Amino acid sequence: MAEPSSPKKVVVLGSTGSIGESSLSVARDIPERMEVIGLAAHRRVDSLAKQLAEFDVKQGCIFDPKGLDQLKTQIADDVTLYTGEDGLVELATLPEADMVLIAIVGVAGLRPALAAIEAGKDIAVASKEILVMAGEAVMSAAREKGVRVLPVDSEHNAIFQCLEDRSPTDVSRLILTASGGPFRELPADQLATVTKAQALKHPTWAMGQKITIDSATLFNKGLEMIEARWLFDIEMQRVDVIVHPQSIVHSMVEFIDNSVLAQLSTADMCFPIQYAITWPDRVPNTLPPLDFAELAQLNFEAPRWDDFPALNLAKEAGEKGGTLPAVMNAANEVAVAAFLKELISFPKIWETVEETMSSHNSITHPSLEEIIDADLQARAKATELIS
Ligand code: NAD
Ligand code: MG
Repeated sequence: MAEPSSPKKVVVLGSTGSIGESSLSVARDIPERMEVIGLAAHRRVDSLAKQLAEFDVKQGCIFDPKGLDQLKTQIADDVTLYTGEDGLVELATLPEADMVLIAIVGVAGLRPALAAIEAGKDIAVASKEILVMAGEAVMSAAREKGVRVLPVDSEHNAIFQCLEDRSPTDVSRLILTASGGPFRELPADQLATVTKAQALKHPTWAMGQKITIDSATLFNKGLEMIEARWLFDIEMQRVDVIVHPQSIVHSMVEFIDNSVLAQLSTADMCFPIQYAITWPDRVPNTLPPLDFAELAQLNFEAPRWDDFPALNLAKEAGEKGGTLPAVMNAANEVAVAAFLKELISFPKIWETVEETMSSHNSITHPSLEEIIDADLQARAKATELIS
């Protein structure tokens, strides 16, 4: 455990969400390692104001400009406030920032992530959507600038810990674990009638609504397969999934000698967030250790590929590449939003995604503009399919 001279200065984008709040718990837990210097949220003015005050942060961003006036009345005079995407980019490129943690749900984190890389900052990425959409562009920009993309998603953080910068040629398979979600054991013919409330009841993790629905359809695991493909430069054929209901083994790497390394901890996102911040150091914290006698058993089972089509759709999107992953992601976002408004049935989520994907002509090695264009087209198509 090395003792750094000063804490890492971190900007948190999406600070009022589930990951954002966990990031701030980490900052409270290891203040000698993490200093928060910028905070951004969508529209939750009260929470953002409270966070700015608690961490004495002087730079804030409220994405929705409607909240700006109210926010101004709730904060100290010496805090500089920004709004909109330009505001997110402003925070992502603060000269004093060492790292930008991106915990914005959806694709709004993409431009700020690229701007942070361009400005030479390491990024810690929770927002899997941006790696799914533009993984090739994000990773190549990071390589060019010599900055790190540190994974916060628990599976990818686990793989990152197991790999320790080993070459992809040493790896035979990345094995992502999946809890299986609330419908792991539900017969396929009953999936058509599940409710929003049932889908939001995740067995092991407390998370935002979008990712919780994704965990129920298994699109979350599908997105993570593509995320892993780019983060670790491993083609889709070597990215595998196993269901592990206890969510204690966060993922594994099988090496070419058939030896497997796994990373384990209790299911708390503070673990991967802390490691992304302190890497390559390990530092003590107040998180609970594992009690193996209490756990008693860890189970593994094959995913139900046929009953949860999200996995195969993601596999296809990841293998074909180009703009197809962005299209899958966008159609899924639209469909999940409609399911959360109780406008469509649960299976209609993957049916919408499948139809949107099959109507798309993918562009290989797309530019950022082409990716954003494909994203917009897919949103329009999915919306049309739903209405
Ligand atoms: P959440 O819904 O709880 O929070 C979303 C956050 O994003 C909020 O702070 C919101 O204000 C912010 N936000 C949304 N749009 C924004 C915009 N345009 N500008 C600025 N801020 C904006 O979501 P979450 O569960 O914390 O997930 C965040 C991301 O992390 C998602 O991409 C998710 O897939 C990923 N992730 C989450 C978990 C988890 O345990 N929650 C685990 C792994 C990965
Ligand atoms: Mg995950």
